[in-house]
Amino acid sequence: KEKRLQHSEQLSVIGELAAGIAHEIRNPLTSLKGFLQLSATSNHGMYNHIMLQEINRINSIVGELLLLSKPKEMDYKPCNVMKIIHHVVTIVNTQAILYNIEIKTNYHEEIEELEVYCEENKIKQVFINLLKNAIEAMQKQGTINIYLEKNHQNVQITFQDQGKGITEEELQHIGKRFYTTKEEGTGLGLMICYNIIEKHNGQIHVESEIGKGTSFIVTLPVK
Ligand code: ADP
Ligand code: MG
Repeated sequence: KEKRLQHSEQLSVIGELAAGIAHEIRNPLTSLKGFLQLSATSNHGMYNHIMLQEINRINSIVGELLLLSKPKEMDYKPCNVMKIIHHVVTIVNTQAILYNIEIKTNYHEEIEELEVYCEENKIKQVFINLLKNAIEAMQKQGTINIYLEKNHQNVQITFQDQGKGITEEELQHIGKRFYTTKEEGTGLGLMICYNIIEKHNGQIHVESEIGKGTSFIVTLPVK
């Protein structure tokens, strides 16, 4: 099962996004208001965890949007791919350790010197999003494998998890803004990933098997 995710929706999306965001933020706010009104009459605190969940959701939505709306500092430079991966793994490991998840990086020596022409912080953001999704899909002990391969004029970076997998139905929707299957998800992570990789003339493919795991394969042109 494979789906080629050719396009992210173009970044003119930002305007459209604003309308969607207002809506997405209003939903949890409305439910918060309702639960607060309920609490005022029956103070068992039984809605507290739902209210917290909704607040967390708003917080993540706003957080991801802040990243998106940062001024475009088109700062393309040659960057060492291995260095980026090492950096990102260090960051994400703090979360992985909580679940006993090991992140393994697999590569040949020749990859060590490989450079891509990219905006480093944006590419880091993509890798972090993919690794966070992998951890969230597993939520238990296991291994996330990262494979780096050179393939003609491209570098191919595979993030392979042992998570729950993605159904064929879900595959049609992932990467669309606000599509999430998580209680506290934002559905913005993958949309941002597709946008960034597209801008770098790269691609993202997904392969998934239910109950076995998922691979997100990022292809980027080498310098
Ligand atoms: P969020 O993580 O906030 O839900 P994303 O855009 O990052 O938003 O992901 C959208 C959806 O894609 C997730 O809710 C999940 O259903 C699915 N998904 C993404 N990555 C994985 C993965 N590695 N394994 C299983 N499902 C995934
Ligand atoms: Mg995500």
